[in-house]
Amino acid sequence: MGGLAIRRALPTRSLRMVGPWCFLDHLGPAVLGGGTDLRVAPHPHTGLQTFSWMIEGEILHRDSLGSEQVIRPGQVNLMTAGRGISHSEEAVRGTTGLHMAQLWIALPDAVRQGAPAFSHHPELPRTEAGGVVVTVLAGRHAGLAAPGQFDSPIVGLDVRAAAGAATELELAPDFEHAVLPLEGGARIDGTDLRPAEMLHLAPGRASVAVSFPGRGHVLVIGGAPFREPVLMWWNFVGRHPDELREAGAQWNAGHERFGRVRGYAGPPLTAPDPAGVRPAG
Ligand code: MN
Repeated sequence: MGGLAIRRALPTRSLRMVGPWCFLDHLGPAVLGGGTDLRVAPHPHTGLQTFSWMIEGEILHRDSLGSEQVIRPGQVNLMTAGRGISHSEEAVRGTTGLHMAQLWIALPDAVRQGAPAFSHHPELPRTEAGGVVVTVLAGRHAGLAAPGQFDSPIVGLDVRAAAGAATELELAPDFEHAVLPLEGGARIDGTDLRPAEMLHLAPGRASVAVSFPGRGHVLVIGGAPFREPVLMWWNFVGRHPDELREAGAQWNAGHERFGRVRGYAGPPLTAPDPAGVRPAG
């Protein structure tokens, strides 16, 4: 992908999950062209929902359900893998600036073998106060409800602020949360955060003080602590090493559980050597 900056904020050595959120890549802000592009060939997922939050640029999503959807700034794509799905993603021709967050949400055991699904959410509720705009990406906040369907208690917020703005952000006391600056710095409950530094907030708080020395933009994710042991390998979320190895072998063999992505120009990705699958630590 050339010079496209991708920062893996979750999982890390010290923080595996935040509620059901189990993966967070922050892409950009980047300028495409000159050898930098976003083009992800067809690949499978199981046991999770992929959650794409577009800040700048346009990406075309295709999946094995037949979905073909461009996601634009201010929109969310939510794909439920369940027992198996496959998809591709590519920057729309003419997209020059790219900035987005790509996340995964672990599905609880009761529904993780369910049917795959895809939904596109072009409009999300937002509230503004004191120069701080909060967009509700997932779950509920300040009396507003995001449109996506989730299987665990969850929240996702995009917070943008003018320089010098400050707010007290409501939190659900039974949730844990994490705050990740996307642009500029932020001061969270007395801690100065720089871009790429994620701050974890343990359950038990009803709010958090957020202020911005300059123009700022942070992502807040949260949820009830996920009590099931989660195992992740390649693009799969499961519980046991054997099911992850089996999913990789089935994908490479063209198994029907992942369907087929139509319309993507190029070969699919190949699952890596399953020797890399490790039991949950
Ligand atoms: Mn994917």
